[in-house]
Amino acid sequence: MPKITAIQTIRTRAAGRWVIVKVLTDQPGLYGIGSASDHYHSSTVITAIETIAPLLIGREAGHIEDNWQSVYTHGYWRNGSILNTALAGIDMALWDIKGKEAGMPVYQLLGGPTRDAVLAYAHAGGNDLAELEDDVRRYMEEGYQVIRCQLGNYGGGGFLPGGTGQPQNAPPRERLFDDEAYLKNIPEMFAYLRDKVGFDPKLTHDVHEHLRPHNAVALAKLLEPYRLFFLEDLLSPEQIHWYRQVRQQCVTPQAMGELFVNPHEWMPLITERLIDYVRVRVSKGGGITNCRKIATLCEWFGVHTAWQEGGDNDPVNQMAAVHLDLASTSFGVQEENHFRPEEYDLFPGYARLEGGYLYANEQPGLGIDIDEAKARALLNPELAARAYFMAEDRRPDGSIVRP
Ligand SMILES: [Mg+2]
Repeated sequence: MPKITAIQTIRTRAAGRWVIVKVLTDQPGLYGIGSASDHYHSSTVITAIETIAPLLIGREAGHIEDNWQSVYTHGYWRNGSILNTALAGIDMALWDIKGKEAGMPVYQLLGGPTRDAVLAYAHAGGNDLAELEDDVRRYMEEGYQVIRCQLGNYGGGGFLPGGTGQPQNAPPRERLFDDEAYLKNIPEMFAYLRDKVGFDPKLTHDVHEHLRPHNAVALAKLLEPYRLFFLEDLLSPEQIHWYRQVRQQCVTPQAMGELFVNPHEWMPLITERLIDYVRVRVSKGGGITNCRKIATLCEWFGVHTAWQEGGDNDPVNQMAAVHLDLASTSFGVQEENHFRPEEYDLFPGYARLEGGYLYANEQPGLGIDIDEAKARALLNPELAARAYFMAEDRRPDGSIVRP
């Protein structure tokens, strides 16, 4: 049985926002890869992995559950986005190794496929309603059945021009977020879209946690006539108890969880059936081992999975999600993510996205590899040395909108 001999990290994408873990074994040529990307904390995650590595050197690579429990409790304190990401990267690599040893794709080890391919939803956007409609139609023509609809960036539809309602001492700001503008414009957006494209396409919307909780409840209720596939990130993780109010007042399906890193966040929402789709990012939820358990929990409570992807994710994390999606009966839908040709080129075997479906392959393990020379060549050291921060939205009085 292979033993772990080294754990390495490979930082790539031009700005170095992707971290790929490589676990090596004592069997020649047998290794696994996993995703430990964190858009804002690449070097912090790399340090965490380097700190954890000595714990696992010499251990059986195939004891995935036991290794997971060891890493989870190694520092006494646990959960949190950095440690979970480090743990997930290692965990995915161990599943990759296990699959290669068995000569089977990971989804086969997880129980085998429960579906032919993975339904994916597209991201449509536009700065005005006509632009958005064009983008929705473009995805419909490509074959997408589920389409997320946004007016510009997150919070779009809720922005007032800079200067509106600002106090005299306020610095100039380009735009200001206003709950009431959002409550007016987003239902109008869906009224427009349903009028133009009908009720056949399944539509979703991401609030990106912009609203005050009572307004979040109001929005879910106002959107009820437009029959959304789901409404995403209606509330921030600090305000999840408000989902009880949402549930009592409307039937708009709810998707939540991309910021979750702790079982105490997803457990009550699933076991009280307060959401319909759980959206933990596989690499933030502790990898395949832990997300498989979340998927199983969902099954018993009638909740579905919609693992988070999105622009800053890497193709390895996407592939890990695809294996879970294929093998899980509680799968609902997968967020799409596509990459530049030179980025796909780093990852032989990447999941193929076509006509609104994602496809894995029949290769053993995760079925995806990394070309390290190309990964190194793509990294721009100057961009990688820069700090990156989440864009801040503020209200007219200057206070920050917590996403
Ligand atoms: Mg979201």
